Amino acid sequence: MKCLLCWRESKSKYGLCFYHDEAYRSLKEGYQRWCRAYDNISEVKYLERLLELPECGEWIKEVAKMELKRIKERS
Ligand SMILES: [Zn+2]
Repeated sequence: MKCLLCWRESKSKYGLCFYHDEAYRSLKEGYQRWCRAYDNISEVKYLERLLELPECGEWIKEVAKMELKRIKERS
């Protein structure tokens, strides 16, 4: 199976390659941290703010965009 976000091979249950899977994990960890720091910020707000951060890596941004889309389609 191919990664949802690039051409690399995916072995993770999320359908992501090694790099995007790592990014996905740090995204989720980051959200936990932000929840504690910013009094339960919503996931959408977290992702949108993340995308505005210049220091945020490209891998993470790609995953964040995917998550945003997923959340918006769900609601
Ligand atoms: Zn990938």
